[in-house]
Amino acid sequence: MTDFKCKACGKMLDLDVFLKDLKVCHYCGYHYMLDAKTRIEYLVDEFTFNEITENIKAVDFLNFTDVKPYKDRITESQQKSGISEAIITGCAKIGGYETNLGVMDFMFMGGSMGSVVGEKIKQLADFTISNKFPLILVCASGGARMQEGIISLMQMAKTVSAINRVKENKIPYISVITNPTTGGVSASFATIADIIIAEPEALFCFAGPRVVKQTIKKELPSDFGLSERNLKNGQIDMIVKRKDLKEVITRLLKLFSVGQS
Ligand SMILES: [Zn+2]
Repeated sequence: MTDFKCKACGKMLDLDVFLKDLKVCHYCGYHYMLDAKTRIEYLVDEFTFNEITENIKAVDFLNFTDVKPYKDRITESQQKSGISEAIITGCAKIGGYETNLGVMDFMFMGGSMGSVVGEKIKQLADFTISNKFPLILVCASGGARMQEGIISLMQMAKTVSAINRVKENKIPYISVITNPTTGGVSASFATIADIIIAEPEALFCFAGPRVVKQTIKKELPSDFGLSERNLKNGQIDMIVKRKDLKEVITRLLKLFSVGQS
């Protein structure tokens, strides 16, 4: 990677400055997509992340082929991203506070939720109930994984029911919406958090603006589905710039920890 032109404002970005700014444009503030590993590196205290359930891997149980076999897509995504699925889960400290953390990766098959993403979130929720530390899920997804058919849609019910058990146990759950979070993820666990934080200008909706426009045959507002409009409409609780995210989450964890041993 070298210096490059910002895709949002067209200004030339110095790579060193871009990386120092956590992959946010120095000029216009555009937040570039992060892979899960980089997100974890930016968010958690150094050397505190311990992955769990890293060995659960997708199986092509429908023998599904679109333009290429699902099996090949999985292998290619694993090789390209260096991770086994569209979410990494584990426990980590943030600002000195213990948390259970799941981070989605849009670069892995569009962050699509199939049976493995659902199972990993379910097991993270179980883990959360056993250790009682707050749960944080960083979302980035195009929705359900079509290569797993109805099974991928069932993950919406599965993750919501797992998170509901976290809530029954009165353990705080924070979701962090990053660009883009749409489809089945926006319609399930991303939306039911106690606190929903979004990065600036992150798209967070069920169907994207192009599809909605085609369906209703009307012009949409230019900020349709974006954080700023979602905040006005009460869909999210706050917009937090990436550079402030760790500090804001730490403050919330501190508030949640009041009165706990
Ligand atoms: Zn820019």
